[in-house]
Amino acid sequence: MGFVRLLPRSASRARNTAVESDLDVDLEVDVSEIEPGLDPAAEVPALEDIPVLEDSPEPFRSAPVASVPIVVPQAPVPGVTGTRVIAFANQKGGVAKTTTTLNLGVAFKEMGYRVLLVDLDPQGNLTMSQGLNPDTIEISMFDVLVRKIPISDVIERREVDLAVASIDLAGAELALAALIGRERSLEKALVEVRDRYDFILIDTPPSLGLLTINAFVAATGVIVPVQCEYLALRGLVQLENTLAMVRENLNPHVGVEGIVPTMYDSRTLHAREAVEILEENFGELVFKTRIRKTVRYAEAPVKGSSVLGYDPTGTASEAYRELAKEVLHGTEAREHA
Ligand code: ADP
Ligand code: MG
Repeated sequence: MGFVRLLPRSASRARNTAVESDLDVDLEVDVSEIEPGLDPAAEVPALEDIPVLEDSPEPFRSAPVASVPIVVPQAPVPGVTGTRVIAFANQKGGVAKTTTTLNLGVAFKEMGYRVLLVDLDPQGNLTMSQGLNPDTIEISMFDVLVRKIPISDVIERREVDLAVASIDLAGAELALAALIGRERSLEKALVEVRDRYDFILIDTPPSLGLLTINAFVAATGVIVPVQCEYLALRGLVQLENTLAMVRENLNPHVGVEGIVPTMYDSRTLHAREAVEILEENFGELVFKTRIRKTVRYAEAPVKGSSVLGYDPTGTASEAYRELAKEVLHGTEAREHA
């Protein structure tokens, strides 16, 4: 009895009751009753069954997206609180990891949840987008991970609580490499504050190095923002391979919780086809919410604000509120809402 895995999302509804009490699902769910019939890997079509689009660029045709095994981790998480720790990852830069971490976090806060964001990217974009300058910050996630200072010492209260990055973080990969337990540094640091939050959202750098691995080890699930382009889909294979390695050696419970199509331009055939291909390959894992392309997302950080703070009633804000509902309830619940 106990925790339900976050994967697939249809199974995660029961888990969600930890933070959403008005769902009529029991919190105590026997995972073994849920998991067996929910192997999304079974729904992934064979490569030859995937329609090749006439105008697909060659690199995408040869991409073995269909062979990515999206694994349902087997066991409940032992001794973990109701906190959901979500890593936002994609080794490609510019796919809206930071934008999604911030705006989803603020959307959860609007709904009344306690939210902590963790900036694990040495570029410090998340920190900057809350009006802080990573170049002048004295103690940051670097000190938490490498010097083992309490994470509460680097949490700033902004729109949401934020554990900040500084320029030093660029040296963290190297400094961590020499430490014993180097992959578990973040997981250990979060123990101090975990019970104070319903959601801990981790923004990761555009690589699959030690910082991102620390995020995977600490996480209960991973959300992958994907730009709606053919070539953006290819990196998912490598991402899933890294996650498989983490599952095998470090955190058997972590898996892809969902894929968010970002920078979606419904006017272009290319974007629509890219989403279709995503859905054909990853089915239920693809969130129904599409984050459309709009300059609002670039404008808001300049003001040190989320889009929800900058343009609260705009469609860009609404998109992340929709996504927040989906992450909470799963696609199924949203369709019935
Ligand atoms: P990452 O963290 O993956 O590198 P960012 O969140 O920093 O990506 O986004 C990259 C750039 O694209 C930023 O300038 C951001 O403001 C912009 N951006 C993010 N989401 C969108 C969107 N839906 N439409 C248009 N621009 C976006
Ligand atoms: Mg970023």
